[in-house]
Amino acid sequence: MNQIPVTLESRTGTFRPPTLQTLPVGVAANMAMIRARTRSTIMAVVKADGYGHGAVTVAEAALAAGAGWLGTTSLEEATALRAAGLAAPILTWLNPAGIDAEQAAANRVDVAVGSVDELGSLLAQSAPTVRIHLYADTGMSRGGCPRSQWDELIALARRGQRARTVRVAGVMGHLSLADHADPVANAAGVADMREAVRAVRAAGLGSPLAHLAATSGTLTDPATHFGMVRIGAGLVGIDPSETVEMHGASRLTAPVVHTAAVKAGTPVGYGGTYVTERATHLSVLPVGYADGIPRERSPQAGVEIGGRRFPVVGRVSMDQIVVDTGDEAVPVGTSATVFGPDGGATPTIQDWARWAGTIPHTIVTGIGSRVKRSTA
Ligand SMILES: *Cc1c(COP(=O)(O)O)cnc(C)c1O
Repeated sequence: MNQIPVTLESRTGTFRPPTLQTLPVGVAANMAMIRARTRSTIMAVVKADGYGHGAVTVAEAALAAGAGWLGTTSLEEATALRAAGLAAPILTWLNPAGIDAEQAAANRVDVAVGSVDELGSLLAQSAPTVRIHLYADTGMSRGGCPRSQWDELIALARRGQRARTVRVAGVMGHLSLADHADPVANAAGVADMREAVRAVRAAGLGSPLAHLAATSGTLTDPATHFGMVRIGAGLVGIDPSETVEMHGASRLTAPVVHTAAVKAGTPVGYGGTYVTERATHLSVLPVGYADGIPRERSPQAGVEIGGRRFPVVGRVSMDQIVVDTGDEAVPVGTSATVFGPDGGATPTIQDWARWAGTIPHTIVTGIGSRVKRSTA
């Protein structure tokens, strides 16, 4: 078996290491597309480190392009945004009962409350007034207060607001068909949301900011927009409804660390699952499944080198992949693009998702921690 000697790092240290570069211009272009489709306030959802693109980088780009709010799924993420100097209103959801009310109030973080227990735990703490968004289950059965407990939640919120322990600043829901362009299927969630808002108003809690839609609803169904829409995937170039082509907001590059000319019949990688059909050149890139390259992928998977697409061949290893570059002997140190926004020979995150039988979200959130981060 032909053995490819592999150097993971250049001995000279001159290679640009594997890098995930975030492109704020992509976020800005996506914000412009979103703003063309809604007049509602836009919340930039930057959970999971801004879908792998860097929460602060994405947040700053989105705010500069007109977002009014930020959203996270934990108080810690929200506090980190404050620590980075971001002043916009922030909402956090997926809060367990027992969330630190004092920390929320001190950092001016609004807290979504999806159950009587969660609200009870906030009310039990003696903290400055915490702003809350009552979170109704609008068909997801994953988060939010079920209809059967909604009146009890509102009654408790009213008591808390009178005592100035909480202030009801919003009402939210979430659509279960987040990956469909289907207004008919959304209609039940929209009706649930309207009823939830009506009940809050009827309880004398004013007219809090109402928000239901994520990227898909925003792009495909104006009836879901209410006062604010919550955009995560769309910021980084993913339209879950697959109806709008958005702009990629990141580029993953890796240097060629080894190139070899091999004969026809050379097995490549673990198990020799790929055997060269003819004399060719193989190049090694120092990224593998530990860096987020999907181990399971179709034979179409490829990378861009020098403006051409070349196939990834053999098994994806933990730390490296092999590319068949045919007649090209690619010089060591040449930068390969695993994915990027450019189109043409450069694969997109949508290409990788298709090759791996997954959704682009898992590609961008799966890039490993040892891949260097940068911002264009
Ligand atoms: C993640 C999330 C969003 C954003 O969804 P996208 O489809 O990524 O835009 C909105 N709302 C809630 C409750 C979420 O958890």
